[in-house]
Amino acid sequence: MKYVIAGAGPAGVIAAETLRKADPEGSVLMIGDEPEPPYARMAIPYLLAGDIGEKGTYLRKSKNHYKDLRIDYLQDRVKKVSAKQREIVLDGGGRRAFDALLIATGATPIKPRVPGLDLPGVHHCWTLADARAIAKRAKKGADVVLMGAGFIGCIILESLLSRGVTLTVVEMAERMVPRMMNDKAAAMLKRWCAAKGVAVKTGTKVTKIEKSGRGLTVHLDRGKPVAASLVVVAAGVKSNVGFLDGSGVKVKQGVVVDDRLQSSAPGIFAAGDVAEGPDFSGGWSVHAIQPTAADHGRIAALNMAGHPARYKGSLAMNVLDTAGLISASFGRWDGVKGGDFAEAADKAAYRYIRLAFDGDRLIGALALGLTDHVGVIRGLIQTGVALGDWKQKLMSDPHRVMDAYLARAYA
Ligand SMILES: Cc1cc2nc3c(=O)[nH]c(=O)nc-3n(C[C@H](O)[C@H](O)[C@H](O)COP(=O)(O)OP(=O)(O)OC[C@H]3O[C@@H](n4cnc5c(N)ncnc54)[C@H](O)[C@@H]3O)c2cc1C
Repeated sequence: MKYVIAGAGPAGVIAAETLRKADPEGSVLMIGDEPEPPYARMAIPYLLAGDIGEKGTYLRKSKNHYKDLRIDYLQDRVKKVSAKQREIVLDGGGRRAFDALLIATGATPIKPRVPGLDLPGVHHCWTLADARAIAKRAKKGADVVLMGAGFIGCIILESLLSRGVTLTVVEMAERMVPRMMNDKAAAMLKRWCAAKGVAVKTGTKVTKIEKSGRGLTVHLDRGKPVAASLVVVAAGVKSNVGFLDGSGVKVKQGVVVDDRLQSSAPGIFAAGDVAEGPDFSGGWSVHAIQPTAADHGRIAALNMAGHPARYKGSLAMNVLDTAGLISASFGRWDGVKGGDFAEAADKAAYRYIRLAFDGDRLIGALALGLTDHVGVIRGLIQTGVALGDWKQKLMSDPHRVMDAYLARAYA
């Protein structure tokens, strides 16, 4: 069997390793378009914070890892796929035939239509090249504007702060991490950031960035312009699917895959940030997080090698450390029609928990300032265990999730 993998991030690497195990005789070709060895984007914040060096971001540390596993690693870009001819076309010239193809090309940051985003000193925080450019300018005391306070924005916020910059966060939604938190939790997070010296402007848009002297001026639709020597843009991401035009593979938000991670074209699979796969909470979603990429990569590879494996669906789960305040959201944290919520808040202590139920099952949750509940909440949601009389106990005191887990999951 000839296996080809387009993309060498976590989804591609785990798929390549799984293929080697599942089919020791097959040929495995992994193609990645970045100059560095395969690395984890989620390690970039630790690199910026100075906790690790660049090598620490590499997914596999041994120099000959891929060679030893007989995984051919090619630095090139897949520019075209033909499902009918069962071949890919490379940027560097040439074509490669495949029996099974995995699309694991990840996502790219969205560049909003704001004048000035191409100026020097304006960067996304997505690649190692971005991280190097940010590190050059994010020096102690530098004025930095972070455009976007979504999940990735808030992760970057933490590492920028650790570099000692003076930070202004501009978020066009009315609250921080709007897709991860409700008003109450987001207001606590904003207050926490303000207490750490971060200026957070929610409900505010960047309208223009201009060069001024040796720095930049960031114009807003509300309030005074902000001076900056660095602007970091974190305004969402989109799946890398452009090269699939005319390929015969069905694409919506990402490559639509079934519960075996196979696309509409037999023998062509997709995994990670590029895949719109089964969502544990119902329907299909792109869940652009590394655990989903890892699960997708493994399950897609097993199916590619002829070992049927079904995927239960990815659970939307985000855990953030924002200048020391841990927050997490899981599944349908915003609830379902007719469902109940249990809530407890201690605003002064920055502690908050909100559980969402469908009948007597936990389907989602929000937690702020609580670290010991994370695993248990995830377990209760993913096992879909019927809580019975424990639902009422949780309605009275949502902090008792551990007791509920022990009582019901092992009942
Ligand atoms: C700063 C930052 C912090 C993050 N923190 C977290 C976190 O705390 N927790 C978490 O779960 N997730 C986090 N993420 C998200 C996580 O990194 C992604 O979900 C994960 O990288 C997805 O893996 P992937 O293999 O699908 O895609 P990627 O890691 O994007 O890898 C895809 C690779 O394919 C390449 N490629 C694209 N197109 C082509 C082509 N046509 N031909 C060949 N190669 C191509 C890309 O350049 C890339 O190298 C973070 C991301 C960032 C940027």
